[in-house]
Amino acid sequence: MTVAAGSLVVENLHVQFDGFVAVDDVSFDAHPGEVRFLIGPNGAGKTTCIDAITGLSKGTGSVKLGDQELLGRSTQKIVQLGVGRTFQTASVFEQLSVLQNLDIAAGLRRSSWSLLRARRGVDPAIEVALEESGLTRERDTPAGVLSHGQKQWLEIAMMLVQDPRALLLDEPVAGMSQDERTATGELLHRIAQRRVVLVVEHDMDFMRRFATRVTVLHQGKLLSEGTVAQVQADPSVQAVYLGT
Ligand code: ADP
Repeated sequence: MTVAAGSLVVENLHVQFDGFVAVDDVSFDAHPGEVRFLIGPNGAGKTTCIDAITGLSKGTGSVKLGDQELLGRSTQKIVQLGVGRTFQTASVFEQLSVLQNLDIAAGLRRSSWSLLRARRGVDPAIEVALEESGLTRERDTPAGVLSHGQKQWLEIAMMLVQDPRALLLDEPVAGMSQDERTATGELLHRIAQRRVVLVVEHDMDFMRRFATRVTVLHQGKLLSEGTVAQVQADPSVQAVYLGT
């Protein structure tokens, strides 16, 4: 199979818990330049899939980022290989400013020597992440007073300063206003220009507006894949998921 450099390629992924098969022989790939959505009803196996990709659940098969195999590696190693992940509830340091949060996240990437050197000025990666996430004006604002949407963007920015090659997001727009959803969709497309972006999402309206391609899981299996229009027109998806 020919795959674009830097793609995330999941092949025959299988995850089970005490004999219960949560992810059953699932294969898909996501490429830099697209915003790939992973959807499916509750219990479809979406979270287990990204848990396996990030080393939180053990699986068999293969998950490659570029030419690096991720399955069987520790979460720490998977992060070092360039996989970032955000969760539904943003975990930011509420007492610290946006800039201080980003500085801590950037410190995870830098060696202690370069950390000392970087103290002389703001790390250029932080400036880029502030710009990309639309938080430039909030740089000195304590994270605790940011809106719900801004906290999510800060968490994304904290991933960006670590320069991930793939970013996995779990329901990034849950609880957001309509304007924040739109801004988040645009942010995901900016991020995806040079990275793999994989979004687990329940919000169908958000998926329709911002997905480049969609992978649909159902009961642990791959049900359908394609553009939004292709997936919506698939009778198997209509039957089990969209209820139309
Ligand atoms: P989704 O994210 O699509 O809602 P999940 O990946 O969370 O689905 O769950 C898929 C299935 O695996 C569900 O039936 C769930 O109960 C089961 N499952 C998930 N994690 C565990 C676990 N740690 N132990 C046992 N069963 C689990």
